[in-house]
Amino acid sequence: MSFIKYDYIAVNGVTRPGIKRTSTVGLIMHYTANKGGTAQNHHDYFARAIDYASAQLFVDDDGAICIIPFDEVSYHANDIQRYNADGTPYYPLRGTLGNANYSCVSVEMCLDYNGNITEKTFQNSVKAVKEIITMYPQITRDRIWRHYDVTGKNCPAPWVANPSELDRFKNAVFNKAATTNKEATTTKKINQFGGISMFTYQEEGKATIYGVWGNKSFGFKNPQELKDFRNIVKDTTGRACKHYTWKKGQTPFDVVKKMVG
Ligand SMILES: [Zn+2]
Repeated sequence: MSFIKYDYIAVNGVTRPGIKRTSTVGLIMHYTANKGGTAQNHHDYFARAIDYASAQLFVDDDGAICIIPFDEVSYHANDIQRYNADGTPYYPLRGTLGNANYSCVSVEMCLDYNGNITEKTFQNSVKAVKEIITMYPQITRDRIWRHYDVTGKNCPAPWVANPSELDRFKNAVFNKAATTNKEATTTKKINQFGGISMFTYQEEGKATIYGVWGNKSFGFKNPQELKDFRNIVKDTTGRACKHYTWKKGQTPFDVVKKMVG
């Protein structure tokens, strides 16, 4: 079962330009800077196509609403906030991200009436990002940033004031212990009856590790990344990844074809 609710606003050329993103390099965390505004409020606001500013996902105490498909551009993290000494815009992650609107998934955390990101919203964001990572396994721990890290904007302000919140967030996303819950149990039962198969492979005697999901395959940099990923899949879908040793001469796809018929 999806934790994220999908309720797309119409393609309007402004908040939702309808342009496909060109890659998925990472995920950028934001806050709405809008006391008491819910995910639904922001859905309705951005549906009115007011300005070239938007994000894909909004999270509040009640859940998470995806208002722009994850594979499309949203205008969230290519703003110019300050300049370098040579007059060029301050984009410290430019070399890694390019234009973040084209390379990154955007997540906005809503604020309560006191201007805080509540623990409930924090934990709902953890759940939502775990789900996003099952779609984009390349978003590893070191590929989640604050808007602040991308352009210097004070966003999410509580996480700029207290940078350890980003670490706490990443710990929760990538730590198995923090995630066992009723949803996972429910999902587990549903998934016993079928769905997408997830496999990971390790080449015999080598550190080369691959994952295969549907018709996509991807590599892991190290055993820890593989472990994190398998934990997330298990927490989110309730299904353990099957892990195989990859025999020389076989490609992951060949193996999978054989296995899934
Ligand atoms: Zn932001």
